[in-house]
Amino acid sequence: MLPLSTHLIRLMCLTLSGVTVVVVPWSDITSAALTGIAVAQLAKSTGQKTAALALAALILAALLPGFASYVIPEPLISTDQWLAAIQALAPGASLASFRPPLLTTLALMLLALTLLLRQRAQLGAPLLLSGAGLLVFAQLAYRLIPAPIMPLLEHRLTGAMLAVLAALTLAQLLLAKPRWQGQPRLNRSLLPSASLILAVLTFWHYQNRHAEDELHEAVREEGATFIARLSNDVHNRLDAMNRFSHSWRLIQGSPTAEQWRSQAAHLQTQEFRYLINISFVSPDSRIIHVYPDTPTNVSIQGKATRQAEIQALNAALNGANRTSTAIIDLLQNEPGLVYYLPVRNASTTTVGAACMVISLPLLADTLFAASNPEHALWSWNIQDRMLTHFGSLEYPGPWQYHYRLSLPGHSVDVVQRPRRDYLLSRYPRLPAISLTTGLLLAYLLYMVLYTFQRLGEQNVAFRRNNARLQEEIDERQRLQEEVEWLARHDELTGLANRRYFLERIDTQRDTPPLSLILCDIDHFKRINDRLGHLVGDKYLEAIAGIGQTVMAENGGFFARYGGEEFIGCLPGVDHAQAMAIAETLRHRTYQRSLPHDDGSRVSLSAGVATYAGGRFDLPQLMQTADEALYRAKARGRNRIESTADT
Ligand code: GH3
Ligand code: MG
Ligand code: MG
Repeated sequence: MLPLSTHLIRLMCLTLSGVTVVVVPWSDITSAALTGIAVAQLAKSTGQKTAALALAALILAALLPGFASYVIPEPLISTDQWLAAIQALAPGASLASFRPPLLTTLALMLLALTLLLRQRAQLGAPLLLSGAGLLVFAQLAYRLIPAPIMPLLEHRLTGAMLAVLAALTLAQLLLAKPRWQGQPRLNRSLLPSASLILAVLTFWHYQNRHAEDELHEAVREEGATFIARLSNDVHNRLDAMNRFSHSWRLIQGSPTAEQWRSQAAHLQTQEFRYLINISFVSPDSRIIHVYPDTPTNVSIQGKATRQAEIQALNAALNGANRTSTAIIDLLQNEPGLVYYLPVRNASTTTVGAACMVISLPLLADTLFAASNPEHALWSWNIQDRMLTHFGSLEYPGPWQYHYRLSLPGHSVDVVQRPRRDYLLSRYPRLPAISLTTGLLLAYLLYMVLYTFQRLGEQNVAFRRNNARLQEEIDERQRLQEEVEWLARHDELTGLANRRYFLERIDTQRDTPPLSLILCDIDHFKRINDRLGHLVGDKYLEAIAGIGQTVMAENGGFFARYGGEEFIGCLPGVDHAQAMAIAETLRHRTYQRSLPHDDGSRVSLSAGVATYAGGRFDLPQLMQTADEALYRAKARGRNRIESTADT
């Protein structure tokens, strides 16, 4: 039975996902992916796991091309190629309709991956989900950081869509939380790797901003250079006009129509096609010659100069070198400028003025023909009036540049609005690549830390089990040794028992001589009867100790043969030596002065038998020792006997 809070959270998440499905319109890939994630979350929480997995995989697949377009360098697949591919599928679509903003793409991919990995901590799902959370957070944070220029690369969602993305991320976190709780290794892996993501995002932010600033400046510089070149070009043309007006100093009188035509034809070349006409105006303001003789030009021949031009004309006639009108509407129905230059003949008399009419739209067309219409929209403004424009109006970029084109006596505002896809084609992919690489590294870091900790935990458990096993083995061995020891020894005295004694003596059969000393404590029953068994036991222990010492001193060993009987075995000891050793044993026992109840000392009797060589017959040897012992008892106890013929 799940706790109530879990039910509540699940209900909340279901509601969130449900609301997303209903509210978000399927207008582009971003909203489609958001809805897809919501549906997958719903499917997962209602137990339709296969459907959830399939949907998550589908979302991931749909986001992949857009993601690729962010990271694949321009020389490999160009922005134009991406655009062409999209437009082949959906005519008129833009880059933005096929890929969500970069940070959103990554966040959506991480959410889909978390669903695909079925929120398993060992596969890195917590890190992926935290990554999605941080990407959402970054989009919120970047809204707050003022940008000096409008961002070129759309890397964040706006308003309601961002709120939906945040809600879906939160929903998935709440759904997965019960699975991830109580795993200390999870937090220890998550914290460093999530911090890495934060650092990577910060780094990306600065890298991206730097790249955009650089691009912004580069485009401005190119534009400024272009405008400067245009200004130069215009000035050069007007200098040519100056030379034209000076050329009349070679003639006497006024220029003839034929002279005017041939000189003007030199001036009006292909590059100077914005020069609409060049006319000769007499001092009384009448238009005398006009070149070329287009119908409009011919129609003005002989007419008086228009009022708007009088001032400029008079200035020229009074000797001013070059004067011009304001920008006026020309007869050709387009804005233009009219320049007047004095025409002086050989006697330096001002015989009239050269009047040159320049069409601004033609000037713009001529000048902008040098730029690529695919790259930007250029427009000419004079006093906030757009005169003309050149280039494509499609996908305008976020940046607008203002330049001043200086014409002699005037200046014109030129506005450049580069196209977004042109700018994107020049935008470096490095920031997106480093962001992706950073996320990948953070994932690897998480996996390494998580696996490392899991292995560490397994290792500890393994070692603990091993130690327990070792303890068990040791205990068994100790018990085994104890059992083995008990099988061969007497528990009370710690001496070898009869069985062990027989085993050991068997190994000595090939190396005579070998002597046996069979001992029996005298009147032992009396000790038990009168002093109690405990005292009897103590005496047995004491005498066992004495016997062991004596035997060890002589290279032999002592065993408890049964009851209060002991047997000493002395390999390499002949009969006489054995008798002496037995005597030592008897003596030391007696000297120990273990008291009977009446104060007399406890003594022992012993029988000695020696195997000197030949066939080894242990029962016989024992029998002999026993007989000797019997004799010692019979002869009064506290003495040593042997069999004479042994
Ligand atoms: P003798 O001088 O003829 O050997 O007389 P004895 O009393 O020693 O002879 P007996 O063989 O009749 O007595 C041996 C006694 O040793 C009998 C038994 O109760 C006692 N005994 C045997 N094993 C133990 C033991 O482990 N502890 C104690 N306290 N007494 C034991
Ligand atoms: Mg006995
Ligand atoms: Mg006895």
